[in-house]
Amino acid sequence: MDYDVLVVGGGIIGCSVAYEMSKYNLNIALIEKHYDIADDISFINTSVVYDGSETSDTVMASLEKIGSELIEEACSKFKVTYKKIGSLRLGDNDEDILNLQDMYKRAKIRGIDKVHLISQEEALNIEPNLNIPFKKALYSENVAIITPYDLAIAYGEVAADNGVNVRFEEEVLNISNISKGFKVTTNKNKFTCRVVINTIAKEVYIDENIDKLSEENSIIKFSKNMSYYLVDDNIDKALEKIVVKVLDDNTFVLNMPNISGGSILGIKNPRAVNIDDGIEYANMLVPGIHKSNVSNIFSDAYKKDLMVIDDTCMDKGYIRVTGTHYGKITLAPAIAKTISDAIALNLKATEKKDFIDRRREFYRFRDMTMDERNEIISLDKRYGNIICLCNQVTEGEIVDSIRRPLGARTLQGIKRRTGAALGNCHGSFCVRKMVNILAREMDKKPTEIVEDSKDSKVWIGRIKEFDEV
Ligand SMILES: Cc1cc2nc3c(=O)[nH]c(=O)nc-3n(C[C@H](O)[C@H](O)[C@H](O)COP(=O)(O)OP(=O)(O)OC[C@H]3O[C@@H](n4cnc5c(N)ncnc54)[C@H](O)[C@@H]3O)c2cc1C
Repeated sequence: MDYDVLVVGGGIIGCSVAYEMSKYNLNIALIEKHYDIADDISFINTSVVYDGSETSDTVMASLEKIGSELIEEACSKFKVTYKKIGSLRLGDNDEDILNLQDMYKRAKIRGIDKVHLISQEEALNIEPNLNIPFKKALYSENVAIITPYDLAIAYGEVAADNGVNVRFEEEVLNISNISKGFKVTTNKNKFTCRVVINTIAKEVYIDENIDKLSEENSIIKFSKNMSYYLVDDNIDKALEKIVVKVLDDNTFVLNMPNISGGSILGIKNPRAVNIDDGIEYANMLVPGIHKSNVSNIFSDAYKKDLMVIDDTCMDKGYIRVTGTHYGKITLAPAIAKTISDAIALNLKATEKKDFIDRRREFYRFRDMTMDERNEIISLDKRYGNIICLCNQVTEGEIVDSIRRPLGARTLQGIKRRTGAALGNCHGSFCVRKMVNILAREMDKKPTEIVEDSKDSKVWIGRIKEFDEV
C-alpha cells in the first residue's frame, strides 16, 4: 500500500484530521486540489468559536464544547490569534425569553460554565453600545473569535513536520475498493491505501455493495437566505461582543467583530435582502452603518445543523465528514480527534514517541519591541527590510512564509500568512516587491507568479525592458 491513511481535502477538517493522525506511527497523505490549504470555505466564514450552549442538538453541543476547548489549547500552542470576546443573545418578548431560559438550562445540564441569564442593565454594563429594545440576555463568556485559516495552516504545518505528505494541486477524481483497502485516483496519480478520510462535499467513493447517498440526494439545495456585510471600524457605536437579536419569526441579525478590526453583520431572512434592506436591518442592531462602511457583501444558505459524519463503511476503512454546519470550524478538532482515535485503534497503530507538538517559530515584526527587532535584524538583515509599510511586514517574514512547511506559493498565500498587502494601500506599494521575492525563492520568472490559482497570473507579460523585471 502507498499509504496507511489518505485524507482528501485540506480545509479545517482535513488539516485537523491530518494533525491528529500524525500523532500515530502511520504513513499518511493529505490531498488538496488547490495551491494552498484552507483555500475554500475554511477561508471565508465568520470565525466564531461556539461553546455548545446555543444548539438544541446534544451530540453537536458536546462536540462544540470539546472543539472549543481544543481550539483554545491549539491557538495558544501554535501562536494563532484567539480572542474570547463573549456573546450576548438578546430577548425582548416572552417567547424570546423562554428560549433564552431553555438555552441557559441546557448549558447548565451540559456542564458549560460561564453562561449567564442577565438583565437588560447587566447586559448594558457589558456592552454599553447596545441600542435595541430587549429585556433579558443570555451572556456566554466562552464564545471566541479566531482566524480559521491560521489555525488550519498551523495544523497542516505541524502535521507536515510530523511526516504527513501534503500534496497540492491534485484533485481526487474517484475512490474504489481493492483487496484490503482503496484505490484513490487523482488527476495526476493513482494511490493505494488502507483508510480514506474524505472531507470534501462531493462523494467520490464508488462502492456497488453499499447503498450510499446518491450525489443528487447528498447535495441539499438551499436558497441564499443569509447575507453578510463586512463593515469597517469607522462606526461610532460598534459592538465589541458577538450579539444576536431575533427580529421576528423569520429574521435575525448578528454582529460578529473581526479579529483584525471591523465586523461582520449577518442578516437571516427568508429571501436574500438587497443592500438597502440589509443596511436597514444592520442598523437595527448597530446604528450608524452607511453604505460607505460596507467593504464586501456575500450571501449563503443558512443551513443550521447539516453535518454528516458517515462511518457506515468504517469497518472497511472509509469515513466521510461533510456538511454545512454553521459551527464546523468549532467542531473540526473534536471530530478529528474522535475519528483519528477510532482509526488508530482499528489499524492497531501505536503513538509516536517523537511527535513534535510545536509549530516552527515565526516572528511578527509589527508586534515586536525595539530590542526584539534589533536582535532579529542582527541575526537576519532581511527583518530590517520593510516590504509592506501599512502592516509593517518585513522581507524576513515573507521569505519565512515561503520556506516554512506548506509554505506560500502564491501571492494570496503570502498575504494570508503575513498580513502583507492587506493594509490601507491594498498592496499598491508592496505587491511588486512580493512578486519578486516569491519568484526569487521559487526560482521562477515574476510573470509566472500567480495570485491564488492556476489561471490567476499577477503580471500577464513584459511590456517594457526594465532591469528589475
Ligand atoms: C458564511 C459562513 C460562515 C461560517 N461561520 C462559521 C463560524 O463562525 N464558526 C464556525 O465554527 N463555523 C463557521 N462556518 C462553517 C465552516 O466555516 C465550514 O463549514 C468549514 O470551514 C468547512 O471546512 P471543511 O474542511 O469541511 O471544508 P473546506 O474548507 O471547503 O475544505 C475542503 C477542501 O477540499 C478541497 N477539495 C474539494 N474537492 C477536492 C477534490 N476532489 N480533491 C482534492 N481536494 C478537494 C477544497 O479545495 C478545500 O480546500 C461558516 C460557514 C460559512 C459558509
